[in-house]
Amino acid sequence: MAPTIGLLGGSFDPIHLAHLELARCAEGQLELDEVWLIPAGRPWQRGDLGADAGQREQMVRLAAQGEPRLRVLDLELRRSGPSYTVDTLRELQAAHPGHRFVLLLGADQLENFRTWKDWRHIAAGADLAAAPRPEHELRPDAELLAALQAAGHRLLQLRMPPLAVSATAVREHAAQGLDLRGLVPPAVADYIERHHLYRNHPAPHGHP
Ligand code: ATP
Repeated sequence: MAPTIGLLGGSFDPIHLAHLELARCAEGQLELDEVWLIPAGRPWQRGDLGADAGQREQMVRLAAQGEPRLRVLDLELRRSGPSYTVDTLRELQAAHPGHRFVLLLGADQLENFRTWKDWRHIAAGADLAAAPRPEHELRPDAELLAALQAAGHRLLQLRMPPLAVSATAVREHAAQGLDLRGLVPPAVADYIERHHLYRNHPAPHGHP
């Protein structure tokens, strides 16, 4: 049978426990063979990031260590210009014609989905699976649903308790010198500490 792969993209500035929980829930509930984590090179809807691309990638790799079903892809980091999901999906589909891809995302990005570049192409190319997130609606958008259905794709809703963890909160905690262990995996907390990341970062973007 064709392998089914969940794709979880993000700025991962830094990767945190809710990203991992999302990946784990998707893997179990959608019977995925693997989840591929895809750090964005230059997230197009973001201003300056707190950590550079190499550091964000390294933290994603540390978080994925010892998780046999998690793979880290650097294709967006190697691509020049802004990172668009539509390009990533096309590239992966061309490279792996036998695979079925499901795009994983949180409720905030589901609300945002129709602002993504070429969102109709994305909806025509893959199922979506969305996770709840505090203060965001998991309600399907009629236009998005219609586009998915026209292409024989679906919007799946992941069962997961809404987790009030965000990269913004991690950066804010780090800036205040607080313990990060309830927010990120221990290896990522150590990395942030060792590299003095986010120390002077006022977190101009992101979630409460
Ligand atoms: P920031 O706080 O900087 O905006 P973030 O915590 O939203 O960052 P991203 O790397 O932008 O992290 O998110 C990558 C993907 O993970 C997105 O689809 C996002 O919706 C999802 N995600 C992040 N945090 C959560 C969460 N707490 N619950 C559900 N989904 C989440």
